[in-house]
Amino acid sequence: MPAPASPSFPDFRADFPILGQQVHGHPLIYFDNAATSQKPRQVIEALIRYYERDNANVHRGLHELSMRATDAFEAARARAARFIGAASPDEIIFTRGTTEGVNLAAQAWCARHLQPGDVILTTGMEHHSNLVPWQLAAQRNRASLRHIPVLDDGTLDMDALDSLLDGPVRLLAFVHVSNSLGTINPAREICARARALGITTFLDGAQAAGHMPVDVRGIGCDFYAFSGHKMCAPTGIGVLYTRLEVLEEMPPWQGGGEMILSVALDSSTYKAPPARFEAGTPDIAGAIGLAAAMDYLDGIGLEAIQAHGEALTRRAWDGLSALPGIRLLGPRQSRAPLAAFTLDCAHPHDLVEYANTRGLALRGGHHCTQPLMRRFKVPGTSRASFYFYNTEQEVDAMLGILRQAVEFFGG
Ligand code: PMP
Repeated sequence: MPAPASPSFPDFRADFPILGQQVHGHPLIYFDNAATSQKPRQVIEALIRYYERDNANVHRGLHELSMRATDAFEAARARAARFIGAASPDEIIFTRGTTEGVNLAAQAWCARHLQPGDVILTTGMEHHSNLVPWQLAAQRNRASLRHIPVLDDGTLDMDALDSLLDGPVRLLAFVHVSNSLGTINPAREICARARALGITTFLDGAQAAGHMPVDVRGIGCDFYAFSGHKMCAPTGIGVLYTRLEVLEEMPPWQGGGEMILSVALDSSTYKAPPARFEAGTPDIAGAIGLAAAMDYLDGIGLEAIQAHGEALTRRAWDGLSALPGIRLLGPRQSRAPLAAFTLDCAHPHDLVEYANTRGLALRGGHHCTQPLMRRFKVPGTSRASFYFYNTEQEVDAMLGILRQAVEFFGG
């Protein structure tokens, strides 16, 4: 087993059975964490325990198993509220993930608040998940979109913010941490400037939650969406945090069981939030797995996780910079634990396929940020993204593989 990346940071790899395997005859190096993280035994066992002991539908049953499942599901909601510093569990809506959280807000909030002629402000670095739902909402409501430009160093043009916020801007939606550049946006400052003008703020926290401490009240946002699967929890579960005052004004977005108070043949009345926004049987096991993941991550400490990611990224960045024909995207300092780059000698897809034959999992392509790729005039990039179970030895091994790749492709 490789040694820890720094003497002060423990090795957690034994908790991740999947990491112990060989791929194409080489030890697996999993550097695709921005796409999805691996799951520790503690989370897998929480799922098994739930299905072996407590499985039942929530909220509707008066029998023992249903009460146990309901208690565990609602405890997970309270756990999620604590994890991000929400004022109340009622501010936590369980979703399928970040994408569903954006779509929920884009439908429910915009149905009530967006008028013809209004503007939604986003940025030039959004994941398609935090762009397309707002485009659809703008089309439905005859509103329009504006975008905060991205500067050459991969940061937002903060000087342009005040003029972009001027006018009929109703909502500002932006990514907390860019999945393509690694930029950590100054969320607190941006939200403060929007709030001073009465503009609602929506944060896409897909790459931030579970990777750095997140405090929604400290940030001062109205919405914060994230996915469990990028932070050690199962796929299919996520959270949309919404400030209670904002939540209470939103109409339902999906109808069905669980979200109603009473139903007549022609009309219905609805429960208070968050139940109003959770129609149908939820992902009960997913929520329980998410709570287990939050316990696990808090047990390590988000500051320590972030510091380890920064150390790995510095090492990767320094090594990558020495490769001929490389172009690294995003800011050098104060960045998320990922490195995105192009190499003159190889298309990202060819490079990622080459890496795969050495057991190295990278990702190549536009990373669901096509406007950003166009902005930087690249067809796509190769991306190595790290998590706390990755090691310096793995980073060094990646650098060795990429040096071989440069020779192979004739750089
Ligand atoms: N936003 C960002 C910044 C992301 O990185 C991702 C996932 N790649 C998403 C949104 C979408 O997340 P999900 O697919 O889990 O809904």
